[in-house]
Amino acid sequence: MSFSSLGLSEQLVRATSDQGYDRPSPIQSQAIPAVLSGRDVMAAAQTGTGKTAGFTLPLLQRLSQSERRGKGIRALILTPTRELAAQVGDSVALYSKYMPTSSAVVFGGVKINPQIRRLRQGVDVLVATPGRLLDLHQQGVVDFAALDILVLDEADRMLDMGFIRDIRKILALLPQQRQNLLFSATFSGDIRKLAQGLLNSPVQVEV
Ligand code: AMP
Repeated sequence: MSFSSLGLSEQLVRATSDQGYDRPSPIQSQAIPAVLSGRDVMAAAQTGTGKTAGFTLPLLQRLSQSERRGKGIRALILTPTRELAAQVGDSVALYSKYMPTSSAVVFGGVKINPQIRRLRQGVDVLVATPGRLLDLHQQGVVDFAALDILVLDEADRMLDMGFIRDIRKILALLPQQRQNLLFSATFSGDIRKLAQGLLNSPVQVEV
């Protein structure tokens, strides 16, 4: 099994070999074709399994294949913490290095003005924590009209940290027609309820 046999483009395969990855991890072997198919995905994945590349690589490929519907954010990745947001943002930047795709990371606890300036320049992929994203939306600098893909990363931790209301507010701002990816270490009743409302006949991925 190789990254190119999973259907990833040459630019993305080159970025993975620059990282020294020999072959896809088990979660990647399952998640990459599922995301590339365009369907919603529900994945049970712990940190350390390579889950970030599992959604980021095919997400970048989907964006490069679909036509831009005007200006604005095309993929939104929500994470529970600033540390995870920064890590995921680093991965997006690494994997997109041979592509024209732009990305940014926003989280709370730091000044909002540099984030406002960055968003005004235009961003294809935005990695965000929920509270700061809503603040930035209030400031009028996030436009979701062109959004194609939503990712909830570590969804169980987001619920544990009390983000469900913020998540629901964010979901209400997004276009109805979009691909949804939900990654979670565990699938409790609360996560299943969220998944039911969010995902449309999802492919289930478990390793
Ligand atoms: P994650 O589970 O996304 O936090 O990734 C855990 C670590 O695995 C990160 O340091 C990645 O750089 C690394 N990684 C991701 N995919 C692969 C792969 N296919 N081969 C080797 N290492 C990988």
